Amino acid sequence: MVVIKSPRELEHMREACRISANALKLAGTAVEPGVSTLEIDTLIAKYIEKEGAKASFLGYGGFPKSSCISVNNVVIHGIPNRNCVLKAGDIVSIDVGAFFEGYHGDNAYTFPCGEISKEAEALLTATRESLYEGIKAAKAGNRVGDIGHAVQSYVEARSYSVVRDFVGHGVGAKLHEEPSVPNYGTPGRGVRLIPGMTIAIEPMINMGTHKVRVLDDEWTTVTEDGKLSAHFEHTVVITQDGPKILTIPDDEVSL
Ligand code: MG
Repeated sequence: MVVIKSPRELEHMREACRISANALKLAGTAVEPGVSTLEIDTLIAKYIEKEGAKASFLGYGGFPKSSCISVNNVVIHGIPNRNCVLKAGDIVSIDVGAFFEGYHGDNAYTFPCGEISKEAEALLTATRESLYEGIKAAKAGNRVGDIGHAVQSYVEARSYSVVRDFVGHGVGAKLHEEPSVPNYGTPGRGVRLIPGMTIAIEPMINMGTHKVRVLDDEWTTVTEDGKLSAHFEHTVVITQDGPKILTIPDDEVSL
């Protein structure tokens, strides 16, 4: 069932999303050579706790940490680890959700670590832009397929591929609600977008094949060919006046 949020629910969503966005922004400032993904996760956990919120991912389906941190060929669901130490040239996808007053906010961003290759930079730019193409298509009256088509056509025109096995989703009182929001699709198909729907749009875009596999830890998802992958995500509300991004950080964020 697709949930339509009341104005009061949307106020709570806004706060959860603001905290999520602040945690992500703060995490980004910590991305540099020599830092472990566990250190970044600890920073995220502390910030979310300071705000009186809960990390949405901690314990979700048994996930052991507060954020997913996925480096280079890791697409999503990387588990923060003290032995995963960042190097210059890495691309670091950080996915953070915060649960506050009964609602979740969810967002992700792929940060460059130090100087990265031109190819990696181009992948990050295209993936970030494809998220905004998807958001633009999230108009009331459009359908979920319009969002997927917008993302897919944008990245495939640049010879990248769209991950099929994982998709965006409704978000609210539950971290994952209906509808599914694939990053591929056919215009005019799928669930109709209605004002008050809140969805997480999250292109996961690969340099090579779209195929992925899950490692033995049952979380870490990598590209099948070992090539790079990027991930950007915003929580968005559908309104009569167009889509509005909820995961917007404050100008200044500190622990
Ligand atoms: Mg998500």
